[in-house]
Amino acid sequence: MNHSNIKSHDQGKTNGQMNCPNCEQPIAVTFESLLVAGKLVCKNDECNTVLQLNRANSGVAINAIKTLKSRLSDLGH
Ligand SMILES: [Zn+2]
Repeated sequence: MNHSNIKSHDQGKTNGQMNCPNCEQPIAVTFESLLVAGKLVCKNDECNTVLQLNRANSGVAINAIKTLKSRLSDLGH
């Protein structure tokens, strides 16, 4: 058993991740960040890109949500 490769599954609330469009660092995607905060924030201190989840500029966010939903449906089986 090698648990070091499945960190994302151990974090509970983290349902997926995407890469920052600016610096390509992984950003955790959770329902909380998507639905409550309404934005995703890059944790790279030198980047700090904020992805606002509005319809005008949400292509990245929509892809993140699609990824999240597909992962959740996988878990549902
Ligand atoms: Zn970034």
